[in-house]
Amino acid sequence: MHRETGKMPTKKSGAIEDLLTAMTGRDRRESIQSNICTWCGSSATQFKSKLSEKEYTISGMCQECQDRAFSEKGSDDDNW
Ligand SMILES: [Zn+2]
Repeated sequence: MHRETGKMPTKKSGAIEDLLTAMTGRDRRESIQSNICTWCGSSATQFKSKLSEKEYTISGMCQECQDRAFSEKGSDDDNW
């Protein structure tokens, strides 16, 4: 069991939370508390920065999914 950080999911409006749950089929709060990515289902324990870690408590996205979702720096793959 990895319970070293004990992240607390942020509180969101119920509507957004319901939407996320509907979209991903996973309960966001439950996933975050067990350090599971709500998007890809992998374990979400490694983050590049505090900001990414915070983002995880908001969106439930692991580092990898965050990188994919916020590839705003337009690095190598911007041919979507
Ligand atoms: Zn993920």
